[in-house]
Amino acid sequence: MAPVGVAIGLPGPVDPRTGLVYAAPNLHGWEGIEAGRLLADRLGCRVAVQNDANLAAFAEWTAGAGRGTRDFVFLTVSTGVGGGLILDGELVTGAAGTAGELGHVPADLDGPPCGQGHAGCLEGIASGTAIAERARAALAAGERSRLAAVGDSLDARDVQAAAEAGDALAGRLFDEAGRALGRAIGGIVNVLSPEVVAIGGGLLGAGELLFTPLRAAIGEIAFAVPLRRCRVVPAALGTDAGLVGATAWAVRRFTAEG
Ligand SMILES: [Zn+2]
Repeated sequence: MAPVGVAIGLPGPVDPRTGLVYAAPNLHGWEGIEAGRLLADRLGCRVAVQNDANLAAFAEWTAGAGRGTRDFVFLTVSTGVGGGLILDGELVTGAAGTAGELGHVPADLDGPPCGQGHAGCLEGIASGTAIAERARAALAAGERSRLAAVGDSLDARDVQAAAEAGDALAGRLFDEAGRALGRAIGGIVNVLSPEVVAIGGGLLGAGELLFTPLRAAIGEIAFAVPLRRCRVVPAALGTDAGLVGATAWAVRRFTAEG
C-alpha cells in the first residue's frame, strides 16, 4: 500500500509551497531541484518539502520544549546555526518560503564570514565550524593554548575539552559564541516576543560553557517586558527532532489539504 503522503526535510532553503529546493550547500547537485514534484512522481503519493531546521522547530513546538505555546522560536547550534519560528500557532515561512534562518543575522560588524560568506553573521561566530576556525586562526597568530597540540583535526569538541580544562583561548571562544547567541536571542525577543526560545544542536553538549554567557547576554539587548514573558530553555527532542517534525508536518499539511 502506498503511503498517503511523505514529508522530507532538506538542509537548505526551500519553498514548501512548490517543493522547490533553492540550494542545499552540503548536498552536491541539489540547486534548483523540484524535489516535491520529482519525489511525488517516483513515490506515487503527495510529498511535502520543508527545511530541516523548520521541521525541528515544528517538532519542538508540537512535542518538545515549545509544546502548548502560540509563539515559539527554535535555534539549533551545531556545524552551522539554524532555526525556525512558530508565530500565532503557524510555522512561519515568509514570501519565498525561506524564513527562519536565524543563524544568518548580523552579530558583529567586523566579524568573520559564515559558511555562506556573510561578513559578521551569527553563524560566523557561534557555530561549531566557526569556533574551530577561530581557534585555528588564533593559533596561527601565535596565541598560546593547549589546542596547539591537537593539530589539523581540531574541531569544536577539542575546543570544548580545552575550555573545560581551563584553557583561556578555548574559554574565550565559547564565551564569545554564547554572547553572540544571547544577543541574537535578545534581538529576537524584541522583534517577536516569543513565549519560549529553545536551543538545540550538537554544541549544547558544552552546557554551561555556552549557556552562562548566552543567558547573560540576552538582557544586554532585550527589553525587560517581553523578556519577563519569555523562557529560554534547552531543546527537548535531540537528534530525533527532524524525524518527529517531518511526521507532524506531514499530518498537518495533508490534513489541511484534505
Ligand atoms: Zn550567514
